[in-house]
Amino acid sequence: MKAAVFKKRDEMAVIDVPNPIAGAGEVVLKVHNCGICGSDLHAVQYGIGMAADTVMGHEFCGEIHAMGPDVNGYQLGDRVTSLPYFACGVCAWCQRDDAMHCSRLRSLGLGQLPGAYAEFVACSAASLLKLPANVSSRAGALVEPLSVGLHGVNHASIEPGMGVVVMGAGPIGLSTLIWAKAKGASAVVVSELAPGRTELAMKLGASAVVNPTESDPADAVKSITGRAPDVVFECIGVKSTLGAAIGMVGRHGQVVVIGVCLESDSIFPLTCVMKELQINFALAYTRSEFQETIDALANGTIDATPMITDVINVDEVPAMFTELKRPGTRAKVMVEFPH
Ligand SMILES: [Zn+2]
Ligand SMILES: [Zn+2]
Repeated sequence: MKAAVFKKRDEMAVIDVPNPIAGAGEVVLKVHNCGICGSDLHAVQYGIGMAADTVMGHEFCGEIHAMGPDVNGYQLGDRVTSLPYFACGVCAWCQRDDAMHCSRLRSLGLGQLPGAYAEFVACSAASLLKLPANVSSRAGALVEPLSVGLHGVNHASIEPGMGVVVMGAGPIGLSTLIWAKAKGASAVVVSELAPGRTELAMKLGASAVVNPTESDPADAVKSITGRAPDVVFECIGVKSTLGAAIGMVGRHGQVVVIGVCLESDSIFPLTCVMKELQINFALAYTRSEFQETIDALANGTIDATPMITDVINVDEVPAMFTELKRPGTRAKVMVEFPH
């Protein structure tokens, strides 16, 4: 089958790889869609931990094409998405729906197991979730990034009337915006340097989009709620953005860090003490958050499809990875397979 693979630092290629086979408790999906994620771009840029010919792609959905032994509750042809990992299912973390901390977790698409920039992908049946007929396959492949936003929002307590700042209008910032609105925030101001992302953030429900070098996002919240932001979501993940979040949030405020900063950073603890802040860090998602996202897409509580700015085929993946290194207006780029 055809697959987009990591070759070496800064190099992707489309090659032929053997079709996956479903082992016990596993299914093979015929992939419908797979989204390109910022962490894919980073992984290729830095070449961290991936062997040559690694099939990437972890935000996907498809239909069940083959089933191994011991798979119950699914039929061939079922449309599903999957948590992008195999977990042990029995440890204390797995038992409490917190498999991201399972010590036997093996992830798909980032070097451990093959991912879904391919016509077929093998998944654990335990990681599957069914997609209702009214959730398109493109939306189905957004469940993963949307669940990252939901997990972050679940690390804060948002109440109606609250004012929120989302720092960063990349796919994770936009997912966080969508969920902060859905959970009842009265004002959600997005802070973003790139001008091209304003329109999309507004379409997804932002109260305002502010360039933080030109004006203070906290003032934009204040103009709506009358006070400093109650919650600030850090969805950028570079040095100094956590400090900026701490500076912006109001007294007794909440800061949630979803962005992944890969270098050491410093904060000024006195500010946190004087404001009596809560600072939480959020990693990935839980299975129940995947389900909540699917339900919200199905019943129309959220509509995330405007996030998809490009649909490409698998042959175009290497060129798109190069393209995405440059700043631009693209949000979610969706790889689509004929289905
Ligand atoms: Zn991702
Ligand atoms: Zn486990």
